[in-house]
Amino acid sequence: MPSVEEVLGTEIYRAYAYSYPHKSAYRALSKPMKLQPLWASEKRDSLFLYVHIPYCQMRCGFCNLFTLVRPNDRQVEVYLEALLRQIETYAALLNPVRFARFALGGGTPTFLTQPQLQRLMEALNHHFNLNLHDTPATIECSPGTIDQEKVTYLNSLGTRRLSIGIQSFIEQETRNLARPQPPAEAHAALETIRTYSSSELNVDLIYGIDGQTEQSWRYSIDSALNYQPDELYLYPLYIRKLTGLDKIKKDRIASDRQSHMLKLYRLARGQLLDAGYEQVSMRMFRRQTATSAQQPIYSCQQDGMVGLGAGARSYTRNFHYSSEYAVGRHDIKSIIEHYSQMTADDFRYAGYGVTLDEKERQRRFVIQSLLLAEGLSLHQYTETFNSQVTNDMPELAVLSELGLTQTSDLDIRLTEAGLERADMIGDWLISKDIRQRMQGFELR
Ligand code: SF4
Repeated sequence: MPSVEEVLGTEIYRAYAYSYPHKSAYRALSKPMKLQPLWASEKRDSLFLYVHIPYCQMRCGFCNLFTLVRPNDRQVEVYLEALLRQIETYAALLNPVRFARFALGGGTPTFLTQPQLQRLMEALNHHFNLNLHDTPATIECSPGTIDQEKVTYLNSLGTRRLSIGIQSFIEQETRNLARPQPPAEAHAALETIRTYSSSELNVDLIYGIDGQTEQSWRYSIDSALNYQPDELYLYPLYIRKLTGLDKIKKDRIASDRQSHMLKLYRLARGQLLDAGYEQVSMRMFRRQTATSAQQPIYSCQQDGMVGLGAGARSYTRNFHYSSEYAVGRHDIKSIIEHYSQMTADDFRYAGYGVTLDEKERQRRFVIQSLLLAEGLSLHQYTETFNSQVTNDMPELAVLSELGLTQTSDLDIRLTEAGLERADMIGDWLISKDIRQRMQGFELR
């Protein structure tokens, strides 16, 4: 029987297996598509609403998200006005609509001032009847952009979860990430959240940083645990094209770094399981007492997503779309400028996206479910596609033979060995067509 390495390769850490298909598989449409008929045929009673704020204080060296640093006040104001136009347009397109989840992400949403955040949230409430007291919501923030006023305001809205990117509590490591951050700033931000907010707290940390040792990694996790976060996201460090770190190091992840990262992953996993956390995915660990542990995490295999703002993606069953995608500052800036000038009528159309046929929808369902610890529900799959997943995806038998999955009457789950290779498996499961599109994408 072939080994894992012979089938999947030796690179455990390749790319984040986020939503499928990746945005680099999207293309400009030959003719803009009207959104009203597209959404009219969708189920709209349990959608995910995502709003994107594409601004940050500084560009972290590892980050390839759609964001721009230090915009001037006028740029932010014009962007916000465009966002409010888009909200109004979508309300006319979608209503009646009900959002089951809401996320405000970026970039850094708390880059906005408190009055700007308030205008945005009031518009969402007015047009979509969005009330965070009864819609689970996540708002992302960063240490340098929150203060008592903003945290108190977000808490008063009923925000369920605040997510903060700390990455490391060791100053030299944050410098090595090209994101210098004094530990005192990270601690002050966490203190502010714990003092002025009753929201659940999610902390992001990164492993695989230059100079990071088992001891320093353990120290960062312990430092985070002092604030009793409800969730921790542990991200392996990827050096992606056109990012700050890419300009310094051109190599992919060398094999000795791969094994070091795997060691750090295992160390953290053991530490968090011992501390009473459950593993939700390769990256995510949740405190068992967290209230969100009692509800399923949102899975967009079945429910659609409405993404508002430049860079946000929207998912209907058969079509995913967004504004154009770029990583370099110059192109991000021009995409945001273009977005900021769009009229209400412009927002009625999609011009950039990818169509998913039945095979790709099945593949998406499998990737989005299998990479979570709770696994792929056989019943849910059959109910959705009226077929057997093992017939539709012969790759699953290969993963099982390699000992990376285990199958019961109810589900297929990654084993411990599979879970630590989730990014590798996610990458391996990408279809030939989508991979070709991704490879043909010219990153700018
Ligand atoms: S990691 Fe977060 S804070 Fe840093 S540049 Fe990316 S979006 Fe901004």
